Amino acid sequence: MVRSPDPEPETGLAPETRAITAGRADNDGALAPIVWATTAFEVPTIREARRLATRPRATRYYTRHGNPSVRAFEDALAELEGAEASLAFASGMGAIFATVMSLCGKGSHVVAQRQCYGGTLQLLNQLCPRVGIEVTLVDGTRPGAFAEAVRPGETMVVLAETPANPRLDLVDLDELGAITGPITVVDSTFATPLGQRPLDHGVDLVIHSATKAIAGHNDASLGVVAGVRDLVDWVWGFAVLQGAVPSPHDATAALRGLRTLGVRLRQQSATALALASTLEGRADVGGVRYPGLASHPQAALAARQLRHGGGLLTFDLPGGIEAGERFVEAVRLCRPAPSLGGPETLVTHPASTTHAGLSDEELVAAGITGGTIRVSAGLEDTDDVVADVLAAVAASTVDQ
Ligand SMILES: *Cc1c(COP(=O)(O)O)cnc(C)c1O
Repeated sequence: MVRSPDPEPETGLAPETRAITAGRADNDGALAPIVWATTAFEVPTIREARRLATRPRATRYYTRHGNPSVRAFEDALAELEGAEASLAFASGMGAIFATVMSLCGKGSHVVAQRQCYGGTLQLLNQLCPRVGIEVTLVDGTRPGAFAEAVRPGETMVVLAETPANPRLDLVDLDELGAITGPITVVDSTFATPLGQRPLDHGVDLVIHSATKAIAGHNDASLGVVAGVRDLVDWVWGFAVLQGAVPSPHDATAALRGLRTLGVRLRQQSATALALASTLEGRADVGGVRYPGLASHPQAALAARQLRHGGGLLTFDLPGGIEAGERFVEAVRLCRPAPSLGGPETLVTHPASTTHAGLSDEELVAAGITGGTIRVSAGLEDTDDVVADVLAAVAASTVDQ
């Protein structure tokens, strides 16, 4: 499953190497990125001011329009995704919201998958209908599901997430990229730019919550969307009014995170695989899901489109909500928290956190039970993490 890196056509360098080399323009010889902590720039002439005010993503005018520190991060991300341009936001939801709202209006139709991040589902199910955008949710794992739901001339966006929150379901990127008409969008947060490149499969826009593995240290909140320049400029036209721009400090933190993403992912993938393999062999744990396991229902697709198994896995404790809660409260080394991709191994109980806003029916459709646990493997020693999780599993099955 975990393949050796494919050298990329543009430079011959592996993605892990390009994570080090990308986004270094305009640094004046400094090895580390410069923090442009300014909200505005002096513009000496009216002629120049008019030019900058009306130009998409100008970086030396007003920071809501663009900022050099933010641009360094955007350039790095665009290069890693094989995109012409990218646009950063204050959060992943900021990026998803701007992408959907900039491409849709009253009467538009969106096709999305029912297995996805809780915030995305709430946006689709609650906000979109309020502004006259109709949404069709499909099972993203079913071949042909997205294409069948597209209504020619009416569907503006096809939105997928792969691997998907929280059960690591996959969407076939080749199939998605072959859809013509609507703009195809992939939330690739779980894969990271080093795990897959949706644009290479013909997808139009790729989105990340850079809050997670990219920034990677639970200290910066960002989102990003990447694709062809015209499309990114179009999204910017909405984003500059939406105002969900990232702080230059957070963008710099995310660029620093990107530099170590390759080694962090290697360690996190190794721990996640060890944990998934161990849990799979136990009678007191069910439904172990990890893209790097042969038992994953889409293992062949995982091997075809993912370069690493990733740091996330999901499993079900048969004791339902009580067992789920006991597990989360029993871990000692792992931290109970609703995020992923950082140095600490995090355990999450989706039904009461990331997906707490969902109805019972939506939870069932997303494959989440009261006993579902998501683990984001961190950077601790693998054996220490496995021992802590096994002790918490044992504690969760004890009737209290
Ligand atoms: C966390 C997450 C988001 C939202 O990102 P924020 O930075 O929290 O706004 C979107 N999609 C996925 C897959 C996520 O994990």
